[in-house]
Amino acid sequence: MIIDCHGHYTTAPQPLQDYRKQQVEHAKDPAHVPTKGTVNITDDQIRESLEGAQLKLQRERGTDLTIFSPRASAMGHHIGNEHTSRFWSEHCNELIHRVCTLYPKNFVGACQLPQSPGVDPAKSIPELERCVNEFGFVGCNLNPDPSGGSFSAPPLTDRSWYPLYEKLCELDVPAMIHVSGACNPAFHTTGSYYLSADTMAFMQLITGDLFKDFPTLRFIIPHGGGAVPYHWGRFRGIAQDLGKPPLDELLLNNVFFDTCVYHQPGIELLFKVIPVDNILFASEMVGAVRGIDPETGHYYDDTKRYVDALNLSPADQQKIFKDNILKVFPRLAKHLPA
Ligand SMILES: [Zn+2]
Repeated sequence: MIIDCHGHYTTAPQPLQDYRKQQVEHAKDPAHVPTKGTVNITDDQIRESLEGAQLKLQRERGTDLTIFSPRASAMGHHIGNEHTSRFWSEHCNELIHRVCTLYPKNFVGACQLPQSPGVDPAKSIPELERCVNEFGFVGCNLNPDPSGGSFSAPPLTDRSWYPLYEKLCELDVPAMIHVSGACNPAFHTTGSYYLSADTMAFMQLITGDLFKDFPTLRFIIPHGGGAVPYHWGRFRGIAQDLGKPPLDELLLNNVFFDTCVYHQPGIELLFKVIPVDNILFASEMVGAVRGIDPETGHYYDDTKRYVDALNLSPADQQKIFKDNILKVFPRLAKHLPA
């Protein structure tokens, strides 16, 4: 069985975008009081949005199940206020729940959190609980920069995040550290902002002592860990200079990297540097890079090909494609065939 731990509903039917467009428009008026409103999407529209995209690619690439979350670049936590973010997150998560209900063998949900800049992260707890307890979701995406590119939030080691971490531990679900679309023109969302935030999050974790307080908390740093594996020596050296324990001791019981690196040398480096127990298979399809690599003739985001080409032992393959993901997302077990 091959599980892809990172996929987004980037092909959601148009009424979702229409809802958001109107919400963003209303958010410009400070006097407007947001209400949840409705998004009318039929089951057929959902099927249509997936059959030619994620489901087709699963079949073609030979993957079985995707941990599926709302489109990350559209989370837009910086837009409007906490109510805007809450209603938008609720609709997006409800739609993921419908996808998972229609295709229980293909998709298991992970939620978007209704974060908002300057708002206590604890306010995301009710939506997290709803998604896990009522919808059977197995994880969430945690935005370390809800401002959308001005990095105004305290580091992930700050105590203001602690109530949310307590809930993640209690529910036994991990968080994928994942920013949304950049509203800072200095950043390209998927090209530099995502990777910068991934790298930033890892460095925040080095300087703090978070996992002493939360020994069972689990984070996935996506996109192959940003710049982390490539600069592993720098991070080890900084940790050493700071008097920290070695990185494997400090972080690697709690921090995991995915395989969303879109070329063979990058995947080789990831596997050379990061222990196999800390790598989870993922593709992030359909989304970040949609084209075909003229050098290989294959889609850039067909990451299974790169992992296959590593010729890992069967035991290590099983870890990457399934066992590590089950370890990080234990609630996934009850969604798998017996
Ligand atoms: Zn993503």
